Amino acid sequence: MQLKCQLCGAVDEVTVWSHEYESQKRAPNTPYICPRCRDRIQVEAREQQKPRGH
Ligand SMILES: [Zn+2]
Repeated sequence: MQLKCQLCGAVDEVTVWSHEYESQKRAPNTPYICPRCRDRIQVEAREQQKPRGH
């Protein structure tokens, strides 16, 4: 199954036993985010949680 990342537009081949496939099956309207963008989002979220200068 091929899923297109909603952020960068990359198309990933997702295997039927993967977590991504399961969540798409359960909620087909959920936008797919590729692992690379997911990593980036997590890093950005962590950056935003850092206390701003003193
Ligand atoms: Zn992406």
